[in-house]
Amino acid sequence: MALIICEECNKKISDKATKCIHCGHPLKEEVTTQQTEQRSGCGLIVLIALGIILAVVIMSLF
Ligand SMILES: [Zn+2]
Repeated sequence: MALIICEECNKKISDKATKCIHCGHPLKEEVTTQQTEQRSGCGLIVLIALGIILAVVIMSLF
């Protein structure tokens, strides 16, 4: 756990917090992390689908 500086009130807050405990300013980094996780989740589904298609093609060859 690390401490970051709130850009709104310049006080130290936890980087795990979703908003500043002093002024209630929402942390943008939390939103960005969630968006990245959603994108990588979609990428994983595509990779799994490609893997299944590849497996079917390889199986049909034998
Ligand atoms: Zn603050």
